[in-house]
Amino acid sequence: MRQKIRKALVIISLLLFPITLNFFSPYVPIDGAMNGIIAGSLLLFMFMFVTAIFFGRAWCSWVCPMACLSEMCQGINNKKVNVKRLKIIRYFIFAVWAGFVIAMFILAGGIKGVDPLRLTSHGISVDSPAKFIIYYFVLALFFIISITVGKRGACHSICWMSPFLVGGFTIGKWLNIPQLRITSDKSLCVECGACNKKCPMSINVSLSSKDGSIETSDCIFCGECVDHCKKKALRYSIR
Ligand code: SF4
Ligand code: SF4
Ligand code: SF4
Repeated sequence: MRQKIRKALVIISLLLFPITLNFFSPYVPIDGAMNGIIAGSLLLFMFMFVTAIFFGRAWCSWVCPMACLSEMCQGINNKKVNVKRLKIIRYFIFAVWAGFVIAMFILAGGIKGVDPLRLTSHGISVDSPAKFIIYYFVLALFFIISITVGKRGACHSICWMSPFLVGGFTIGKWLNIPQLRITSDKSLCVECGACNKKCPMSINVSLSSKDGSIETSDCIFCGECVDHCKKKALRYSIR
């Protein structure tokens, strides 16, 4: 039941993507920064950072439109990926992008205002046929990388938003703030490996949960491991 609800939510999110596209855009914050304006997508990234303090990367499996597309791609290529290697590309992209945004704000003379609906038409991102080109380009980019690289390949390698989530999760952990976790009861585990196979983030769940909980920021709290563990050794907890 939980997986059905989760999948329904991300399908709805993907269907709404023509409306929400610019709120996830890496370009809109740059456009805003050039004029000293905090744009809607930058506000959303900050919101993601704050929610991640408590819920980690749950956004990536319960809300993000790319979650649905990534899961569809797993039907084509369900290969485990080398997360550490792909992360290098992601953080490089993020560092360049963040540096650019900060530089634009400095050149514009600082923050002068906030425009939540920047570069949208009353909150709608794709409001003309020409803008569908960008929409299809983003979908194609995620699709091609995911089916080429493997499980959530695009999420691991090019997502400019996930560092906000990882940052929020890490700060919450440092500050010992109660956070969502997947915890385990190892006395129930029979090492069947079902959780490892099901994990969309290529986490070795049975090994990572050996000390009682999964602590990696790669976990997106999809609950696939919890729902496929026949021994009920895994569960959601607050830690
Ligand atoms: S990693 Fe990025 S694109 Fe992938 S689900 Fe998370 S926020 Fe969305
Ligand atoms: S699915 Fe459950 S029993 Fe099987 S390895 Fe994972 S935690 Fe252990
Ligand atoms: S460890 Fe479990 S909850 Fe976390 S991403 Fe993997 S399957 Fe989902």
